[in-house]
Amino acid sequence: MLLDGYGRKVNYLRVSVTERCNFRCQYCMPEKPFSWVPKENLLSFEELFLFIKVGIDEGIDKIRITGGEPLLRKGLDQFIRMINDYKSGLDIALTTNGYLLSDIAQDLKDAGLKRINVSLDTLKDDVAHKISGKDVLKKVKEGIEKAREVGLGIKINNVPLKGVNAEELLDVLEYCKQRDMPIRFIEYMENQHAKEKLVGLNSNEIQEIVATKYNFQEVKRDTASPAQMFEFEDGYRFGIISPHKHDFCEDCNRIRLTAEGLLIPCLYFEEAMSIKKAVQSGDIGAAAEVLKEVLKNKPEKNKWSSDDNNETSSRAFYETGG
Ligand code: SAM
Ligand code: SF4
Repeated sequence: MLLDGYGRKVNYLRVSVTERCNFRCQYCMPEKPFSWVPKENLLSFEELFLFIKVGIDEGIDKIRITGGEPLLRKGLDQFIRMINDYKSGLDIALTTNGYLLSDIAQDLKDAGLKRINVSLDTLKDDVAHKISGKDVLKKVKEGIEKAREVGLGIKINNVPLKGVNAEELLDVLEYCKQRDMPIRFIEYMENQHAKEKLVGLNSNEIQEIVATKYNFQEVKRDTASPAQMFEFEDGYRFGIISPHKHDFCEDCNRIRLTAEGLLIPCLYFEEAMSIKKAVQSGDIGAAAEVLKEVLKNKPEKNKWSSDDNNETSSRAFYETGG
């Protein structure tokens, strides 16, 4: 079992397989970065897998593939198959913007993927264009339908921003409810790479909007997830992820690995250690040492939850995978 310096059990690894993305979301990567990490600096899937095996052997049992846009990386289905074949019972999931999903959904399912999160911030073509920088909505919705058709479990991620998509919150909720797809509203996390002056809805504001149409009550949250959970009278559930809340980090169970091999203990902070040398020389012991060192230094909490409302992370979400 892996424990961090505060005694929290860590069993969840998020793996960003690329920082590149075909969208330019306002809250994440509004402009193409000055330079991408050169392809030769990226770890191969075999190298990432070597570290993942070390993690699994030490107690990781939940793995999420993310990015940038993970579906941009060729051979992703084979990567998922490698992980899935290594140990039965692993919880392997993927987070995607959905744009390329319809063509690959069946291959992902065949490779052993069971669950997928698709980001859907709006149901309006022009708002989708405004948020992501291009006409994306039709293909995203096709991706969602195809993934449902092939039997992948789907959750929707939605970041409500004031003056952008927040007034549509109930429509997106209704779209998900009709399809029995859970939705997670994510409070916008301020970061230096996002477009300036974005303001997200906070958890209370989200609940107030939902309460104008539905009766719901808070239910016990799943200990493996940071989302507050709410249930309607008919049993449909939605969640809110609120990193600005004081207790958000109390049960943090996750670490993050980037495509160039940086192991990151907290989404907010810059601190990281590289596993590159260890995996490229096949030194499993050294990789396990880096893992333990990173856990030892995992911060107690992010700074979004501090009383200072102006805390902004310098970390790029597209690098760390959200
Ligand atoms: N490209 C994929 C996607 O968009 O789903 C995966 C990577 S993206 C970084 C992972 C998640 O982080 C998405 O659900 C996205 O909405 C969320 N995200 C990105 N920037 C965010 C921010 N500043 N605040 C809150 N959530 C953010
Ligand atoms: Fe790309 Fe996802 Fe970031 Fe949007 S949120 S720019 S889709 S990585």
